[in-house]
Amino acid sequence: MNFQESVGGGARACGAATSNQSRTCFLFQYHGSNEVHPGFPGPARSLSLDRGRVVKRQSGDNNELSVSELLERANRNLNPVQGGVQIQGDIAVSNSSDTDSCVQDGCKWPKSSDGNVYVPYVISNSYSSEHRGVITSAMNSISSSGCVRFIPRTTETDYIHIQSLDGCYSFVGRQGNAQTVSLNSNDCIHFGIVQHELLHVLGFHHEHRRSDRDQYVQVLLHNVLTGMENNFNKVNTLNEATPYDYNSIMHYHNRVFSKNTNPTLVAASNPTVRSIVVRNLLLRDFNRTNLVYCSN
Ligand SMILES: [Zn+2]
Repeated sequence: MNFQESVGGGARACGAATSNQSRTCFLFQYHGSNEVHPGFPGPARSLSLDRGRVVKRQSGDNNELSVSELLERANRNLNPVQGGVQIQGDIAVSNSSDTDSCVQDGCKWPKSSDGNVYVPYVISNSYSSEHRGVITSAMNSISSSGCVRFIPRTTETDYIHIQSLDGCYSFVGRQGNAQTVSLNSNDCIHFGIVQHELLHVLGFHHEHRRSDRDQYVQVLLHNVLTGMENNFNKVNTLNEATPYDYNSIMHYHNRVFSKNTNPTLVAASNPTVRSIVVRNLLLRDFNRTNLVYCSN
């Protein structure tokens, strides 16, 4: 390794710069008992995107909460049915359509003649300027790499309407007409949460529900809270030849929806492997977004 330095609650170690000036870095994240787990290679620049608020665990240790932990906490008391829409975890599912398996072009946002993919948005006036800034920063972070552009809606028929409703949730993929993205102003205005919900908007599902997940994670249903089992159902996702990513911002943490604090997700090959504490998009999430939307 060429250098190692502290980053947030962990560290990164990077090799020498290659001819195109990119460095290969391995991310490390400290967990509660000071274990260190290697992450996946990623560029150093991915770490500069961490602009979310830091939230400490209440148990006394100083680890920061991951996006999936923040989501679980924010949605803990969420009514699972809101306005005719079912909420599964942080995913809204219309009763009239099977949006839970949004994998075909029908739920992708269309590519414009200039090669960009525009996602029109309306942000509720109820947000403070600070909260609005977090939301637009998260949009810009996704737009900074590739062809997806979030633009203020003018007359477009299909658009996302970001509102401070109860909890944090989004539909998966384009629904047609206005579609709600709920980002409760008390619980959901974190940079990583906004990125996570925007990736749902773009059609991405939770990583641990990928069609090929059985090769990578084992679900321990006997530890799952009653009524939460459907959060672990596999989805017929298009994986676009991308590797399974324990460190995706779309991967839930290993005790998600646990009824007894025991793990609900363990790595299939090595049960001691845990995903790092993810607070924002890393390179592979960007790559996958670009692969789905920007190639050809
Ligand atoms: Zn989600």
